Amino acid sequence: MSEIEKVECLIIGSGPAGYTAAIYAARADMSPMLYQGMQPGGQLTTTNEVENFPGYPEGVTGPEMMVQLEAQAKRFETDVRFGFITKVDFSGSVHKAWADDGKEIHADTIVISTGATAKYLGLESEQKYLKLGGGVSACAVCDGFFYRGQETVIVGAGDSACEEAHYLSKLCAKVTMLVRRDEFRASKIMAERVKNTENIEILFNTETEEVLGDGQVVTGVRVKNNKTSEVKDIPATGFFVAIGHKPNTDIFKDYINLDDTGYIVYEQPGTSKTNVAGVFVAGDAADKTYRQAVTAAGTGCMAALDAERYLAAKGH
Ligand code: NDP
Repeated sequence: MSEIEKVECLIIGSGPAGYTAAIYAARADMSPMLYQGMQPGGQLTTTNEVENFPGYPEGVTGPEMMVQLEAQAKRFETDVRFGFITKVDFSGSVHKAWADDGKEIHADTIVISTGATAKYLGLESEQKYLKLGGGVSACAVCDGFFYRGQETVIVGAGDSACEEAHYLSKLCAKVTMLVRRDEFRASKIMAERVKNTENIEILFNTETEEVLGDGQVVTGVRVKNNKTSEVKDIPATGFFVAIGHKPNTDIFKDYINLDDTGYIVYEQPGTSKTNVAGVFVAGDAADKTYRQAVTAAGTGCMAALDAERYLAAKGH
């Protein structure tokens, strides 16, 4: 039989949302337990320099910031667990969760901060330069600044790709946008904005063959027109992938309301409440618009405060 642990607050996920929720919950004497998930530290552990998180005038690397957030959560005695939650049952008044280490956890409140995972093309060369931190990124707002005055390539044709291409166009000398079909998926207004931006060149029916580089950093992108089979190399120092994100919400789908792309729907906008009383959400698992460390941290704070108030109303 599995061991049952009872907690007032279980936090699932260890990005800025999860750790911020932990800091607030711990300081409110809720003795939170936090399961770090498959990627301890979350998406920021795959970024280099973070220059837009307030309070770091010189910037900080993503992994370093996450180590500091973890240390801050532990300073107030958050029970940080290495491992991930595999299953939940939110059908009763006590919320149940099972971890990969066999533990069964009964929690009065739950904060879901499982985040989202950026999709990549999966090309070997793309993954190589992503891991090297040499010019592949899935976040223009995070990394665009490093390519000021340079030439970049962005893949994708949805609202995110259009928004990011437009963002990059204000910083970069030139942005080449690769669209695999002969039309955008994005809303008309977003597509029009991109089409009307002088330094964005759109290549339709075009796919990425290879991300080119010198072994350290990206130097260009080899693309192929899937109608004519013409192959050409585009010089670029940055390769941005904007082909969507997958929110990490699969294990909650039997209990929590999700939208048609899998993002958790707030029961009451302006709060962190989900459709299940006592279960709150923070960060990218419910955010397909902002996706920033600072917004995730903000909603983490909201979730912990909402959880505390929920417990107080129940007489805890
Ligand atoms: P989407 O799923 O809408 O779009 C993904 C895009 O990536 C599609 O154009 C798709 O091409 C392309 N793509 C997927 N795989 C590949 C591949 N292997 N190679 C090349 N291209 C590929 O994701 P978004 O992140 O853009 O948007 C998600 C949701 O968030 C949407 O509902 C969107 O409207 C919303 N959103 C709204 C914003 C706003 O209103 N400000 C901003 C950002 C997002 P294809 O079209 O051929 O399938």
